[in-house]
Amino acid sequence: MSIDLFPKKPAVSAEQSQQVKDWLYEILQIDRQTVISLSQLQCQDSGCPPIQTAIAVMTSPHRVIRIHKAIPDIAYTDVVQAIAANTNNQKES
Ligand SMILES: [Zn+2]
Repeated sequence: MSIDLFPKKPAVSAEQSQQVKDWLYEILQIDRQTVISLSQLQCQDSGCPPIQTAIAVMTSPHRVIRIHKAIPDIAYTDVVQAIAANTNNQKES
């Protein structure tokens, strides 16, 4: 494994983005008309991969879910866990 100080954002195919969105629609049980935007950001947290994905779900109120992986690395279980963590956070505040 090499360490890249200036990681390039991985290329993401339309299919990969759509797959993540499909999982979100399914897990959150939201309307397919709801806009979901995915953006890959650098993550500064220690112990994290360099790229994280911020998911904005434009429900009302809208929610932002972060997954500490690049879009091509996101699996179904990552989405389930991130939504569960996000829901718990919102209950605490
Ligand atoms: Zn992170």
